[in-house]
Amino acid sequence: MTGKVRGIGVLGGTFDPVHNGHLVLAEAARREFALARILFIPAAQPPHKLGEPISPFHHRAAMLDLALVGHPVFGVSRMEEKRPGPSYSVDTLRELRTDLGWEQPLYFIIGSDAFAEITTWKNFNELFRYADFLVAERPDTAPGHLDDFLSRQPGFSRDPAGVCWHHPLGARLYPLPVDAFPVSATTIRRKIRQGQAIQGLVPPPVEAYIRQHRLYRPGA
Ligand code: ATP
Repeated sequence: MTGKVRGIGVLGGTFDPVHNGHLVLAEAARREFALARILFIPAAQPPHKLGEPISPFHHRAAMLDLALVGHPVFGVSRMEEKRPGPSYSVDTLRELRTDLGWEQPLYFIIGSDAFAEITTWKNFNELFRYADFLVAERPDTAPGHLDDFLSRQPGFSRDPAGVCWHHPLGARLYPLPVDAFPVSATTIRRKIRQGQAIQGLVPPPVEAYIRQHRLYRPGA
């Protein structure tokens, strides 16, 4: 076989619910980095949301299944459901490396809001052993420019060509340009609670699922 092995993207999140901002983000990563596959990996127990009410995993994963119909490159992985305890990304990436081997290019796709918190994640430096990072500026949160953030973190160095940053454990970190789709799952849950429409913010089958299962309603 000739040619470069195409990359696999990993997009973790709570996805409560998945929305069009997630799809726009994944599509930008697919397009810019010619990814062969993008795995949406819902967290079974998001470590930063322990104690907060979140929808059961089966609902969040089912909505992802519906959202990704018609996107052949995108798929849902339920791997975090199988692990007991909080769903740490470092464990997920380690497991993916065990399954895929080290030759497979792996890209961890993340919004700038989540990336700005990464130093609080379990064994965060180890993440940079397993995958390159695509960091998207998120339109609905305060700007967190990758360059500003990384220039304040010890260990990272800017690539001389200026296209990415390097971590000493091997990862390259790239800014990912994304068409702004300013929505969050928090906004969607609030709108539903207040009886407002969410049309256009989530794929129609996800909207129908939310209605059918009466998710995010007061007292639900
Ligand atoms: P919540 O409001 O419940 O915190 P969320 O909308 O931020 O949820 P998550 O499931 O936590 O969704 O996000 C998963 C990933 O998608 C994160 O890396 C986040 O930064 C990114 N993301 C979410 N919404 C957008 C958006 N509108 N544009 C770009 N990236 C986004």
